[in-house]
Amino acid sequence: MSGAEKKTQATAAKPKAKAKKKVAAKKRLPRAKIKADQIAAIFERLEKQNPEPKGELEHVNAYTLLVAVVLSAQATDAGVNKATRALFKVADTPAKMVALGEDTVRDHVKTIGLFRGKAKNVIALSELLIEKYDGEVPEDRDALVELPGVGRKTANVVMNMSFGHPTMAVDTHVFRLANRLGMAPGKDVLQVEEGLLKVIPEQYGLHAHHWLILHGRYVCIARKPKCYNCVISDLCIVKDKTPSPSQ
Ligand code: SF4
Repeated sequence: MSGAEKKTQATAAKPKAKAKKKVAAKKRLPRAKIKADQIAAIFERLEKQNPEPKGELEHVNAYTLLVAVVLSAQATDAGVNKATRALFKVADTPAKMVALGEDTVRDHVKTIGLFRGKAKNVIALSELLIEKYDGEVPEDRDALVELPGVGRKTANVVMNMSFGHPTMAVDTHVFRLANRLGMAPGKDVLQVEEGLLKVIPEQYGLHAHHWLILHGRYVCIARKPKCYNCVISDLCIVKDKTPSPSQ
């Protein structure tokens, strides 16, 4: 190879190398702002406070959990439970849901936001479960996200609660806590999910998402977190802690 050819090849390789570097930089997660032992101590406390945390969406099997989570987008768990109590009594399998029909399902869930689209999705996902999975909920995140109305968060909840996988479903509470506590800073849910999975000690993997959701829902709330009533207050990096209202 002549010197000129070598030079041309090297120049052509440069943009590729640059592109590779860019991809690697994009994939690199922001670092946790707190140390590993601090993160472990936080989960140790949360576990001590609530050894067996449970989700608050009522369900009787993997299918009804899946439906409940689909219905819960931009709605409260309490609101969803109110509607699904009667619905799941008459339809706790995909076949029963399809037999019920979209109009009746819509009627059951009409108190929940976006109910028209959600009722449509519940019927469509039930039909697909019958057609592709013999009416069973697949234990596979990729298969779950193919179902109508099912996103990564919903799939992670089902993988965790129904099948016992240490997945991290990032909702608004988990996202806020991961950033606020510096455990897994991230700009989007995927970054936070991956960051948390990286830093949470294995032994806490199964329940971590519930501990974070419950802590975020009841104590470390978005505005005026209840720092005066927080079991991890001394481990938390937030400087301006909310003082007790009685002070
Ligand atoms: S001390 Fe306050 S900010 Fe820190 S985790 Fe507890 S409630 Fe949240």
